[in-house]
Amino acid sequence: MLYFHYIIHIGCHLFTGVMAMQYNIYYPLTVTKSSIDGLGAYTCCNIPARKKIGSLGGVIISKREANKRVKALQNKSIAMVELWNGKVLDASINSNALRYINHCCTPNTYMRVCGYYVEFYALRTVVAGEELTCDYGATHHDGKRPCTCGSVQCRGFI
Ligand SMILES: [Zn+2]
Repeated sequence: MLYFHYIIHIGCHLFTGVMAMQYNIYYPLTVTKSSIDGLGAYTCCNIPARKKIGSLGGVIISKREANKRVKALQNKSIAMVELWNGKVLDASINSNALRYINHCCTPNTYMRVCGYYVEFYALRTVVAGEELTCDYGATHHDGKRPCTCGSVQCRGFI
């Protein structure tokens, strides 16, 4: 799973002040073998464009703790998204199906950091049976990791 190898750097949009974390998914998804890498998240029904698919599950840790975990894990299972104010969502613990969304250079979802939440939205209508994908943007690989998304518009590296 490509996702596990990245810390994703996204600016914070909004602080909601919500502390009781609830990670919901609003559409039925299944996790099965990905056409891109490892496991993938597939939708079981159509998702209209711009609809919120859900929030990535995980635990909130400090950036310092995140750096420690990245070092300890080397290249294994890292699924972290930088939030705001020095916080990071570690999605390798207490996570949900959204953690299996793989990177694609022509994705069908986009990710938005909203306070302590990492939300996924449909970029266009996603048809039942499609694998959900997201453009990770900047990762800690600094564009040095070969991309395996298979898109005709693949940038080659992420
Ligand atoms: Zn690609």
